[in-house]
Amino acid sequence: MTRIHLYDTTLRDGTQREGLTLSASDKVKIAVRLDAFGIDTIEGGWPGSNPKDAEFFRRVSSAPLHRARIAAFGSTRRVGVSCEDDASVQALMEANTPVVTIVGKSSVTHVQRVLETSREENLRLISDTVSYLSALGKTVVYDAEHFFDGLALDASYALATLEAARDAGASVLVLCDTNGGSEPRAIGDAVDRVSRRLRAQLGIHPHNDRGLALANALAALDAGCTHVQGTVNGYGERCGNLDLLALIANLQCKRGVQCVPEESLATMTELSHFVASVANLAPDAHAPFVGRAAFAHKGGIHVAAVAKEPSMYQHMDPALVGNRMRVVVSELSGRANIRLRAHSLGLDAQPVERAVLERVKALDHAGAQLEAAEGTFEMLVRRASPDYVVPFELREYTVVVERRAEGGSRARATVEMRVGGTSVRTSAEGDGPVHALDSAVRLALEPYIPVVLETHLVDYKVRIVDEHLGTAAITRVLMETAHGAERFSTIGAAPNILDASWDALRDSLELAVARASDAARTTAPPHMDTRRTTHETVTT
Ligand SMILES: [Zn+2]
Repeated sequence: MTRIHLYDTTLRDGTQREGLTLSASDKVKIAVRLDAFGIDTIEGGWPGSNPKDAEFFRRVSSAPLHRARIAAFGSTRRVGVSCEDDASVQALMEANTPVVTIVGKSSVTHVQRVLETSREENLRLISDTVSYLSALGKTVVYDAEHFFDGLALDASYALATLEAARDAGASVLVLCDTNGGSEPRAIGDAVDRVSRRLRAQLGIHPHNDRGLALANALAALDAGCTHVQGTVNGYGERCGNLDLLALIANLQCKRGVQCVPEESLATMTELSHFVASVANLAPDAHAPFVGRAAFAHKGGIHVAAVAKEPSMYQHMDPALVGNRMRVVVSELSGRANIRLRAHSLGLDAQPVERAVLERVKALDHAGAQLEAAEGTFEMLVRRASPDYVVPFELREYTVVVERRAEGGSRARATVEMRVGGTSVRTSAEGDGPVHALDSAVRLALEPYIPVVLETHLVDYKVRIVDEHLGTAAITRVLMETAHGAERFSTIGAAPNILDASWDALRDSLELAVARASDAARTTAPPHMDTRRTTHETVTT
């Protein structure tokens, strides 16, 4: 197979996704990563449409790119306006990129109803714009919008639009399934038909409205396309674009078609997560190849088998794309899940695995699924060890929430805790009852266990587990806590939000203490203040 030209449009088509916005500097950061990964062309935006994209093109010109070429995107000139006088076409020139991508109409209906012009004039728009830009030294990529729909409607016209672009100097003709309504067989037949009619490099730009973008891209490549357009994580309008990473993984890991250098392939998972975090979107845990769950094993029988031979229940080695096998602990687990999961945390669960498994199943039954709570799982293993010392205990708490006639409300929590043989009573206010409880607990612990001051909550999610029970339902709280560079998630489930929050909070603080004392053991002896006094602190 000829080498496939990888064309990324995350920064243009990808940002059409609802809820996704990227600043000019976000776009430059992503472009640098795409270049390092091995993408050939990076479409940066539509300089004629907004000042932010124009700023991106200014900034990216001095970015340290090694191989990728930057493309600016725009449409054919307007009806009745020459390229010299068309502001959008001139903005493409000002973007100062080596590659320019021009979108034009392939479908007669679009020409007549949307452009409101004649069939002949549309051919002139395509021809003029492409030849104008190529005469000025640009490499022109021609995107044939709605190509497959246009071909079905009036094949000879759709093909004539491609010929107009090719004859005017377009370097590649990209067949776009703009509405995402096509399917693999039709795509394959259409590519075949086009390549029999005209000699040109062909590309494919699929959308995922039928969940077929990847299948359509593969069908187009099988039929002779050698250029493919997609986005990282399949970001894009509606149901998204082709997920370019999934395509690359399919080609390189499964078909042996080299798309990016081998060492880049192993950074694919990191790239996917990097782009998600710049876009401020949660990575899709279930994305093929790069999802956190893509190689996760939960069923006890599966886990027992992959412990012996990983290939028994996974289609490839996750390390090829920089992912890893994970063992999920849940009520479906067997003892092998416990052992492997604990081992991946650097703990030996073998002596206590039966006790831990029983705890996992009991918690699962109570509504606290440990699959997403590695921190709580780690605490179960640590607590099951006979020499584990509980660093603190919550004996009692009272939380009062007042709503005032003059408006607003306030919460105050009072806690009684045991810390290293000492009884401590503290009170604190908070924005709400959970915040007040958290503040009072930290206040009680900080003189004795200063490490708690180094932890902070980064995410807090609440879900009602059994909605039809109304207020009698179980509340599940999932917390994510940061301690330096470490992050851990903990969970609690109880009939009320405060007890559930306490369980998750206790696990996160206890884990920070346990890990800190592991680290301290290798440097200095642990220190804990064990004065038997009652410490009373009140803050507001
Ligand atoms: Zn598109």
